[in-house]
Amino acid sequence: MKKILIIEDEKSIAELEQDYLEINGFHTEMVHTGDVGLQKALTQDYDLILLDVMLPNIDGFEICKKIRSTKDIPIIMVTAKKEEIDKIRGLGLGADDYLVKPFSPNEMVARVKAHLSRYERLSMKHPPESQGIYIRGLFIDRSSRRVFVNNKEITLTTKEFDVLTFLALNPEQVFSKDHLFERIWGFDSTGDVSTVTVHIRKIREKIEIDPSNPEYIETVWGSGYRFH
Ligand code: CA
Repeated sequence: MKKILIIEDEKSIAELEQDYLEINGFHTEMVHTGDVGLQKALTQDYDLILLDVMLPNIDGFEICKKIRSTKDIPIIMVTAKKEEIDKIRGLGLGADDYLVKPFSPNEMVARVKAHLSRYERLSMKHPPESQGIYIRGLFIDRSSRRVFVNNKEITLTTKEFDVLTFLALNPEQVFSKDHLFERIWGFDSTGDVSTVTVHIRKIREKIEIDPSNPEYIETVWGSGYRFH
């Protein structure tokens, strides 16, 4: 049974989330403060975390960042303020998705299911034994999510790392922007495929010697991208 951690200080909301998730066959644990939530998230095994932004002791932004530095399980942030959406997206916290209160419980369940199956797809396709990818001076360490170019570490955002790793694991195949968007961003209705173009550009700036003449990620005009 999939185990979900709910970190939410408003008890009525936490209980609503719990009820709907349990009806749908998930096992849940509920905590109401940031510090306890973070501690549980880091020390126990969960399949997904539903994380409120405004919390006593430590806020959701900080918690998300800390969890991300050690775990890549799906994190869905829950916010009461529309203004926080930009912050969630802009900070590069590594959250997979977000919900704005008041949200429909059924939509919440649908997103939880979508993220769990996407995560499963990604982790099943690439068994743990293939943790490192090495191509002509580019080294991707999948277990620690670190990337090195000619032995020098470069910093990628979560999605940049996901895009690069996905392409590198499937060399010489052409993927359209739509395909990449669906694959990496999945069930996030708020983005659009132009995000893919931006991410590819940023990755090239970081890994290519000459980003305008890329040797790793090639543009296949009219079709998409191919890792070489
Ligand atoms: Ca709150």
